[in-house]
Amino acid sequence: MTDTRDTVILGSGCAGLTAAIYTARAGLKPLLLEGHEPGGQLSITTLVENFPGWPEGIQGPELIENMKKQSARFGAEFQMAHLNAVDLHVHPFHLKTSAGDLRTRTLIIASGASARWLGLPSEQALIGHGVSSCATCDGFFFRGLEIAVVGGGDSAMEEALFLTRFASKVTVLHRRENFRASKIMLERAIAHPNIELRTNTTVEEVLGVEENEVKAVRLRDVKTGVQTTLHVSGLFLGIGHEPNAKAFQGQIDLDSEGYIHTQNNVFTTRNGVVVPGVYACGDVQDRRYRQAITAAGTGCMAALEAEKYLEEHGR
Ligand code: NAP
Repeated sequence: MTDTRDTVILGSGCAGLTAAIYTARAGLKPLLLEGHEPGGQLSITTLVENFPGWPEGIQGPELIENMKKQSARFGAEFQMAHLNAVDLHVHPFHLKTSAGDLRTRTLIIASGASARWLGLPSEQALIGHGVSSCATCDGFFFRGLEIAVVGGGDSAMEEALFLTRFASKVTVLHRRENFRASKIMLERAIAHPNIELRTNTTVEEVLGVEENEVKAVRLRDVKTGVQTTLHVSGLFLGIGHEPNAKAFQGQIDLDSEGYIHTQNNVFTTRNGVVVPGVYACGDVQDRRYRQAITAAGTGCMAALEAEKYLEEHGR
């Protein structure tokens, strides 16, 4: 077991890196653990046009790299490690990671949420080249083009409706007959002249890997087995997100969908009572906004609370 740290931050996306900048500037020498998706969702986005301060936009990976450099300049340390287990019932908290065991007085959980993907090799090959899981990030690039959205829940309906601002036609592809989406969202999608809903349809392959851009999708009707090709320039996944919070089950409160439950933005709880010294920020506790700037905002809040805790309880 190594020495006890003042602050360990889990996750190197926008929330974790903002927390690292603040805690490093406060002299806490934070250790940031980078997991299986270093840089988080921004690192798989292309141009980010809605992060304030970048009038021409900035590439997602570049934004992340800048934040990383900024935090390192003030003394943040980085380690690639997967969290295997955590004990938040003791203080200092114990973390078991793939790079060894750690003890820390404060813990900032910024482990994010991962978009669900279909898992097709062609889909994975074209992420960032026409395949996206974020309509607000990438919809703008599909002005006047035809696109498809996969999913039958509220996210898919919301994405489809949002994407009609840009795309000339949006085809929603859902694997079942009945939709999971709320009535109101479904009705809006049905009523929209530029949205077509196709049920009992699965995506078998995304075409365009050789050209490095989406050209079409090969579909299968699950009832008849008949395969067809739909020509689209973009494929958006709206099949939900998975919060990366499984390691915290039984340690702090999670909501019914596995997101970390927070009070007053970033305070974690156990059985409804605040767990001092453990804060959660970014998408792992935010199922509503999921924006880079809101993740950065809660990352800042978590850092300030960790700093305050250490001031009050000693380092
Ligand atoms: P969701 O409700 O779990 O829906 C996911 C959809 O994706 C389902 O239709 C599911 O199909 C489909 N799906 C999952 N895995 C798939 C796969 N491998 N291949 C093909 N299809 C797949 O997720 P969500 O839409 O992200 O919503 C999550 C929560 O956030 C919900 O409570 C929702 O109401 C809320 N939300 C609300 C709003 C809003 O009110 N504005 C917007 C977004 C989200 P099946 O139906 O066959 O399972």
